[in-house]
Amino acid sequence: MTHKSGRHFLQIPGPSNTPDRVLRAMAKPTIDHRGPEFAQLTLSILERLKPVFQTSGPVLMFPASGTGSWEASLVNTLSPGDRVLAFETGQFATAWRNVAVKLGIEVDWVEGDWRHGVDPAVVEAKLAEDKHRSLMAVLVVHNETSTGITSRVPQIRMAIDKVGHPALLMVDAISSLGSIDYRHDEWGVDVTICASQKGLMLPPGIGINAVSAKALKISQSSGFAKSYWDWGPVIKMNEKGFFPYTPPTNLLYGMDVALDMLLQEGLPNVFARHHRLAEATRTAVGAWGLELCGVNPAEYSDTLTAVMTPEGHDADELRRIILDRFDMSLGTGLGKVKGKLFRIGHLGDLNDLTLAGTLCGVEMGLGLAGIPHTKGGVDAALEYLASNS
Ligand SMILES: *Cc1c(COP(=O)(O)O)cnc(C)c1O
Repeated sequence: MTHKSGRHFLQIPGPSNTPDRVLRAMAKPTIDHRGPEFAQLTLSILERLKPVFQTSGPVLMFPASGTGSWEASLVNTLSPGDRVLAFETGQFATAWRNVAVKLGIEVDWVEGDWRHGVDPAVVEAKLAEDKHRSLMAVLVVHNETSTGITSRVPQIRMAIDKVGHPALLMVDAISSLGSIDYRHDEWGVDVTICASQKGLMLPPGIGINAVSAKALKISQSSGFAKSYWDWGPVIKMNEKGFFPYTPPTNLLYGMDVALDMLLQEGLPNVFARHHRLAEATRTAVGAWGLELCGVNPAEYSDTLTAVMTPEGHDADELRRIILDRFDMSLGTGLGKVKGKLFRIGHLGDLNDLTLAGTLCGVEMGLGLAGIPHTKGGVDAALEYLASNS
């Protein structure tokens, strides 16, 4: 490997860039996770995680990837053979469904074209059809990271309420929490699934569940065998600042600082920053004459932009050229959209000039890869950034 000078541009939609302050915090010596100093750290983190989820209920952490927190959400609230409603918005919704199927949950799967979010009207129709109330949960990916499409959770909640259906609402907010407005309590979400490596600006390794009182009550009669993922012991030990097993101590040092950063900037400012950078990115894509994966502007994601490459042009070849020439990583097309799109991550710790550099790399790459486009996307984005503070 030849030496690459300067900083690598990690512009995938997660893991996102870890701020230097967070990296430094994690370099401290590991302490006794059964000692008093550690208990203080946990309690203070749990208190500050609540406002980030906009909840007053319990927020639990597992040493896990996001996939682990999906599994935790299911095995704590459901029983083998239970039916749930889920929507094919993209690769992450599909992967979550696959976890449910492997566990022996029956998934009523609403197919989709990977260019739309969850349709609240379909939620309403499906639940209205379920006269015997046998659907136990509705699973929704808030921000579908494979397509750059954000589903409208408040409207989905309204659809459930309109039918008066008792199903739990479970939402994967892994690539939206801490970047796009998300309100666990106000939106009546029963379980929010999250992970450390996206909007929370940490490396991968912490999986999170935020839990409503209703979900907590139902968890007491859930029929799944579980040990590691069992909410009960975690909640009990967390009360005193501990965990049932060894937690990822140094990631928690990082979380301590990352939460300070988010809360000091102020969540409304964090959301506005992400929206503005996303708008600038979409402005560039429009000026290039390229197509977004999402077709409904009300569902455009503020944490990533998925850009379709024209027929006959492999998006992964473009990504390869950009990595090779400019040392920048962009997100690949996952599953059904492999080769058809690339994803620009713009979430977490970034500012105008990080985004400007990213868009420069994309525009130069488009030229080198011979992808038909109009020059001037970067100029249009810079104009947008300069004139919208
Ligand atoms: C990143 C992501 C996941 C996957 O998390 P892992 O940590 O890779 O298991 C799940 N859902 C969404 C929406 C994501 O963006």
